[in-house]
Amino acid sequence: MNLRSDDELLHYIVTEDPRETEALFARARAAREKYYGADVYFRGLIEFTNYCKNDCYYCGLRRSNTKIERYRLSLEQILMCAGLGAMLGYRTFVLQGGEDPYFTRERVVEIVGALREKYPECAITLSIGERSRKSYAAFREAGANRYLLRHETANAGHYAKLHPASMSLGNRKRCLFNLKKLGYQVGSGFMVGTPFQTPENLLEDLRFLQSLEPDMVGIGPFIPQSDTPFGEEAQGSMAQSLRMVALSRLLLPAALIPATTALGTIHPQGREKALLAGANVVMPNLSPKATRKLYALYDNKICTGDEAAECLGCMTGRIRRVGFVPNMCRGDVALKRLQSGRLLRME
Ligand code: SAH
Ligand code: SF4
Repeated sequence: MNLRSDDELLHYIVTEDPRETEALFARARAAREKYYGADVYFRGLIEFTNYCKNDCYYCGLRRSNTKIERYRLSLEQILMCAGLGAMLGYRTFVLQGGEDPYFTRERVVEIVGALREKYPECAITLSIGERSRKSYAAFREAGANRYLLRHETANAGHYAKLHPASMSLGNRKRCLFNLKKLGYQVGSGFMVGTPFQTPENLLEDLRFLQSLEPDMVGIGPFIPQSDTPFGEEAQGSMAQSLRMVALSRLLLPAALIPATTALGTIHPQGREKALLAGANVVMPNLSPKATRKLYALYDNKICTGDEAAECLGCMTGRIRRVGFVPNMCRGDVALKRLQSGRLLRME
């Protein structure tokens, strides 16, 4: 297994042979161990708006979904979520939302600046979609360290089947490279099992990751949301999602890879299985209990009824039970080289 050729990668993308997949997962665990040991890093997720101007066919927050009740958190509410998170020990906050025009460059700068001032030791991650390079620069200037923007699919034809014509893979990629140039730790990634996806598309996703060299890679199964055009489509496979996690770990051994909520949604042990396939990050929810159900990217999303402290306790237990060690530090990306045997970290 050297995973260099397209043919070999394609083989592992589709294989269902239990011995082959276990060997793949064992290799992925060893790669992760080399850079991060047994640590699993925590990120506190604050879902601060479910308004979105985009109309992605797969997502429950799309603007054409008139059934969803919309909400926005105020600056004070966001600071309360972060305050609770900090008290619980979180050192990374992820601000995620739809592409909500209300949150102009100035408003985002204000939020990031307020968090940066109050929590100078914490990492601030944004996940608010495609913005101009100027806006990304302003957010970075205000104190944002990381940005999550999945490419969703690296094949332009496939991208066009998942999004309206107003969105393009070209712009998505441009955003990702701009973020990198601005010095963000960048996360990309994709869904597994979206409608029309082929194994060759997944191969392109891996090849794109290799060219972008992101610091984080988010991978989760597509899950239908009933009020979207893809509401009747089949959900993505857990087994294939896990293989994509493992392959991403082996191609980008120093990456931070979350065991995603989507995986936990389609299988009660989905996140544990992801940790055992090479993932090393979890992203429990810090959003107010009242708004969690409204952040309905897909149906049956888990953890919408829990308090932040319950989520933390639950995840800690899950991590320990599969033999890993919960780590509440910032968890920056490991430098891609090991110097004199010591693990160096960025920023
Ligand atoms: N608006 C921002 C962030 C919110 S969406 C953005 O699009 O980047 C965050 C992620 O949720 C998306 O990148 C997508 O991969 C995932 N997502 C959306 N709908 C989904 C669905 N039906 N099933 C699984 N994941 C979904
Ligand atoms: Fe909006 Fe993101 Fe959902 Fe697309 S995936 S509709 S950009 S929230």
